[in-house]
Amino acid sequence: MSVGKVVVVGSVNVDLVVAVERHPAPGQTVLGGDLRRTAGGKGANQAVAAARAGGADTTLVAALGHDTAAELALGSLTGAGVRTDAVQRVDVPTGTALITVSPDGENAIVVAAGANAHVALTATARERLAQADVVLAQLEIPLDVVRAAAAARRPGARFVLNAAPSRPLPDDLWSQVDVLVVNEHEAADLAPGAGGVEVAAARLAERVPTVVVTLGAEGSLVARRGQWPAAVPAPRVRAVDTTGAGDTFCGVLAAGLAAGDDVLDAVRRAGVAGALAVTRAGAQAAVPSAAEVAAGVGAAP
Ligand code: ADP
Repeated sequence: MSVGKVVVVGSVNVDLVVAVERHPAPGQTVLGGDLRRTAGGKGANQAVAAARAGGADTTLVAALGHDTAAELALGSLTGAGVRTDAVQRVDVPTGTALITVSPDGENAIVVAAGANAHVALTATARERLAQADVVLAQLEIPLDVVRAAAAARRPGARFVLNAAPSRPLPDDLWSQVDVLVVNEHEAADLAPGAGGVEVAAARLAERVPTVVVTLGAEGSLVARRGQWPAAVPAPRVRAVDTTGAGDTFCGVLAAGLAAGDDVLDAVRRAGVAGALAVTRAGAQAAVPSAAEVAAGVGAAP
């Protein structure tokens, strides 16, 4: 497999996680367990996955503050081999997610966007976008930046949009997308009233050439314009923590497409990587190595 070039344009957060017996109601205080501080944010998670699990030459375009959270985030990115020279530093705190987790595994999350609201395309970012094989973005940063990044890619480079978290997409963004990646909930939000995930995927594929809908333990669906969606099963694993599965999937998918893989092969590999990620705690810490993914692809039915 050759190494492709991926540019991820997206958010960086530090996740502050506390285990609680129950989530606080408004006005209430609850005592939790020890604080865990981990590197997160969809953009950073997907860049780590593209580089470590996907083996791609990966650049992250993002914004960080001048604080200790930024140092934690940068350490995780560089540790995975992500290029960070298109990450800007701004005079706003690094994005932060405040997360409480109850014993049933349910999360309650508040995100302070912070520096993520100030991502801009620097000269270095534009240079990398013009050289990329795949540009990958999500929706945790301003839509204008997502749109500008898609427009700055070279002709022939693919634009993969992970439309998460859910928000309506303007027509001029739809027309840029080569591959749309959504989970079941996001698919229903973008194709309301479809009445089933296959119909939603097929309907979305009338707007973009390729649609991938991830279905957790059920794997994923790949829909192409004019074709009924194909099911791609995920390997059976024991789930420990599903955080970051979708981000691992997106990063590895982008890396596969950048290396020239066929969409179905890239989705299969991404599904194995996502399955491995749920067997470990954390987001970036749970991203498997390229060797583990290759072994998993070989073992998959
Ligand atoms: P999101 O976190 O965005 O909702 P999903 O939960 O659909 O994303 O997970 C993305 C991918 O990760 C799935 O398509 C699948 O390949 C893999 N995956 C997620 N959860 C599991 C699981 N419990 N068992 C096996 N694979 C999983």
